[in-house]
Amino acid sequence: MHQNLASRLREVNTNIQNACAESNADFNSVKLIAVSKLQSIETILTASRLGVRDFGESYAQELAKKALKCPKDIIWHFIGPIQTNKIKLIAKHSQWIHSLDRLKVAEKLNAACKEYKKTVSILVQVNIDNELSKSGIKPEDMISFAQDIDSNFPNLNLKGLMFMPNINLNKTNQLKTFKNIQFLMQSLINLLPNCDQLSLGTSDDYIEAIKAGSSMIRIGEDLLGPRS
Ligand SMILES: *Cc1c(COP(=O)(O)O)cnc(C)c1O
Repeated sequence: MHQNLASRLREVNTNIQNACAESNADFNSVKLIAVSKLQSIETILTASRLGVRDFGESYAQELAKKALKCPKDIIWHFIGPIQTNKIKLIAKHSQWIHSLDRLKVAEKLNAACKEYKKTVSILVQVNIDNELSKSGIKPEDMISFAQDIDSNFPNLNLKGLMFMPNINLNKTNQLKTFKNIQFLMQSLINLLPNCDQLSLGTSDDYIEAIKAGSSMIRIGEDLLGPRS
């Protein structure tokens, strides 16, 4: 198992390096986030010993439980839908939140962070392919929402955008979606130059995502193995 994780990590890193080389991106500008939802603490500890620092969780209670038991130098990214009754838990245990898409949540999150005397790094989730089943704001609402977040919440540090494209698209439509993502990122950067982080890419599409400019890839099963 540990051997497997080590070799999967090597393989993922090689793929990242190759994708960076092909797109003239700096290897150090792509952050690997190990998505550990539904994975055991043992698996997280193993990955951590192999040098993985950033982990992604989708469920607030699971995050809280793991954050209390894992090494303190782990950086926790919350990547799941945010339920209003879990906001304090999420604020307490994460350093990054990738899935902000409602002002009401931003207000409560900011208040919770203030209480904990901390700031969290924030990405706004955009529903790029307009899928009913997915969270995220509409692409056309992104700029005004980002401006709101950036100017009104001192404990939320807006850093960029997060996307979960439809993975069933054919190559042509995937390319189209990635072009739309690049357009949205550029319009955000034009307005807020420090908001240049792009969270894009899972086990299914991280190589293409890096070529499209992703700076944070969220890899679960390809790195940590099948979820139980
Ligand atoms: C589960 C999840 C991932 C990781 O998916 P894999 O297919 O296991 O790589 C990435 N991003 C989000 C938002 C997720 O919920």
